[in-house]
Amino acid sequence: MKLHIASGNAHKLAEFRKLAAAAGTPVELAPVVFPPVAEDSGSFEGNARIKALAAAACLPPDAWVLADDSGLCVDALGGAPGVESAYFAGPAGDPSANLAKLVAVMADVPDSLRAASFTCCLVLRGPNSAEEIFTGTCPGRLLRRPSGSGGFGYDPLFVPDGYTQSFASLGDTIKNRISHRAGAWARFHTWLVTKSLTGSAS
Ligand code: IMP
Repeated sequence: MKLHIASGNAHKLAEFRKLAAAAGTPVELAPVVFPPVAEDSGSFEGNARIKALAAAACLPPDAWVLADDSGLCVDALGGAPGVESAYFAGPAGDPSANLAKLVAVMADVPDSLRAASFTCCLVLRGPNSAEEIFTGTCPGRLLRRPSGSGGFGYDPLFVPDGYTQSFASLGDTIKNRISHRAGAWARFHTWLVTKSLTGSAS
């Protein structure tokens, strides 16, 4: 199955490719370029759907499109930056500025209150307006200072539960086993393999 990925984020696309290869998901991934959209639904699912619909409009009607919306929800900030994760420090969407802002606003928060979680929502659109939703979350906590050089976005500040190092230090192999995106992809993989057995998603 050819699967069009509705994301302009090269890091996400790379993660999707690794997740597909690791799981043996029977898909050929192809990025789809679509016009900019306002991600203003207020939810991960709604924003992923906005991207999926915009990308689907650029493709033949029988195409399959997968869109991702994801972000970091910090307990001490009432769930922020959440759906605004990409623009936490302003409309420029500068990942370094976003990270620096998070370090600053969390500076006085004690270790016991530094819980956070990543969420990834995947919206799959197929022929005849078929839609499936797959969500993954990854709980953890925030460091006081960025650590590690891998990953992207908030990875240097986020330590997943059960680990002592940040996503940026743990590296791709571990991140792609336990991350929010890995969890959502595992659900998509299971759905696809099950559907493929019945011949309805090929
Ligand atoms: P989106 O492209 O609108 O879904 O924005 C997602 C934003 O959430 C990214 O720009 C990052 O700031 C953050 N984010 C999502 N997933 C990850 C991840 O796996 N690691 C680090 N940051 C992430």
